[in-house]
Amino acid sequence: MKKLLLLLFFIFITSFNFYSATTPSKHIRILVITGGHDYNVDQFNQMLASLGDNISYQVSELPAAYDMFLPGNRSKYDVLVFYHMWQTITEEQENILSDCIRQGKPLVALHHSICAFDDWPEYTNIIGGKYFHKPTILNGKEYPACSYIHDLNFRVRIVNPENPVTKGLTDFEIFDETYKGFYVEETVTPLLTTDEPSSTSIIGWSKMYGKARIVTLQSGHDTQTFENPNYRKLLRQAIEWVYNNGK
Ligand SMILES: [Zn+2]
Repeated sequence: MKKLLLLLFFIFITSFNFYSATTPSKHIRILVITGGHDYNVDQFNQMLASLGDNISYQVSELPAAYDMFLPGNRSKYDVLVFYHMWQTITEEQENILSDCIRQGKPLVALHHSICAFDDWPEYTNIIGGKYFHKPTILNGKEYPACSYIHDLNFRVRIVNPENPVTKGLTDFEIFDETYKGFYVEETVTPLLTTDEPSSTSIIGWSKMYGKARIVTLQSGHDTQTFENPNYRKLLRQAIEWVYNNGK
């Protein structure tokens, strides 16, 4: 009897170890960075809360949120979500923020965060795109100011249904704001496109920045998008993909 109990105990311990070794914790703590642009907070938070039991969120507003990029605070969250349009940044803050991501903190950048940090060129390298508020020279090329239009119905096309960020999604309709003329880095992996004439054609992409996976989604202005089940699925899968980097 004692031997049987020992055997059962042994089986229990080994299966437990096997389980822990092959199934890493799926719980993902996202840190949402806001500031510099108004948004519908309640509806946005409802979307965050709907992402699933394995995703919890915390919102931190710039400029106080700069502290969260300091090395001592980086273990407090797993994935960054940018939903800010902040402009003011010191050289020290630039170095700390870019280092945080370069060292492997994954990022999902949404909507008006493409329009942030106009005077910080490295930010464009981090998220892989840039909305120009005024005519701007980038890598020796001059780009005119971009434009935007609110409240449009348009079709979002899935570039590759096999991509983990867009798996299970087919082309869908969205009611949102478009941006036209924004820069998208040539080396990104396009995830979403649109034929809507008032938009740049690529409206979602992924890339690496240092050790971190990055996904940038242009959509996300207001409640209609926050409540769009396709957008929610996209956001959830983007968070999971950037988090699961090499895991
Ligand atoms: Zn907007």
